[in-house]
Amino acid sequence: MLFSKVMHELSIAQEIIHIVTAQQAQHGFEKVNIVRVRAGALSGIEPESLRFSFEVVRQGTVAAKAVLEVDIEPMALVCRQCGFSIVDSHGPTCCQKCGSVDMKVDAGGELDVVSLDVD
Ligand SMILES: [Zn+2]
Repeated sequence: MLFSKVMHELSIAQEIIHIVTAQQAQHGFEKVNIVRVRAGALSGIEPESLRFSFEVVRQGTVAAKAVLEVDIEPMALVCRQCGFSIVDSHGPTCCQKCGSVDMKVDAGGELDVVSLDVD
């Protein structure tokens, strides 16, 4: 269980490096200072574990000295009737705008690279 958890974060870290090196091939920067990523609340990603994994896989890449900043996107409930969304996942389960109880969970994506700070 713990092993598969670590593997999960390692594969995500590798995916981040993959995106960074693809960006480098396109834009030709020399090094990456900061990598900012955003993960959905239900992705199960732990920022600490992800940072640790990132420090393992970044070696020998253009991001070898990069800092990884991880934002966890809060889970939201979205009304299927009117599209109103509630960010507080512990809040009411009916729509605050139209009163509908037809809500779906919008947990955000697994992981997005939001921005790169490069030289
Ligand atoms: Zn509504």
